[in-house]
Amino acid sequence: MRVICPHCISINNIPLQESYKTANCEKCGKSLLDTRPIELTTNNFDEVISNSDILVIVNFWAPWCNPCETMSPSFEKSAAKFPLKILFTKINTESQQGLDTKFAVKSIPTLIIFKDAKEVYRVVGALDENSLDSLVSQFM
Ligand SMILES: [Zn+2]
Repeated sequence: MRVICPHCISINNIPLQESYKTANCEKCGKSLLDTRPIELTTNNFDEVISNSDILVIVNFWAPWCNPCETMSPSFEKSAAKFPLKILFTKINTESQQGLDTKFAVKSIPTLIIFKDAKEVYRVVGALDENSLDSLVSQFM
């Protein structure tokens, strides 16, 4: 299955397994299990979304948004718990304009889950760590 390296954003092809003890990026050598939210841009968005065989969750946020700021640590913690299950990403709607319009994001934070590059779920408003974990778990 194709997964995106959380460190260098390159595409890796790894065997599909129930769980992984180790998995390293073919390009940068860092662990694919060491996951953190990836910053998506207007340039890499389509490539990442269409080359990830695992689900992708996108957090539309902005630096001036207080609820986004509040959710940020929870989003990072949750990202670390689902390596090679769901790809956590975020889009700064202030510096990366256009994607929020494309997906009709009217208020932030908005979380959108993509499967095979198609939107399958969205939630508007900040979630705490437990709510994030249970949301993501529904799609496992
Ligand atoms: Zn890499």
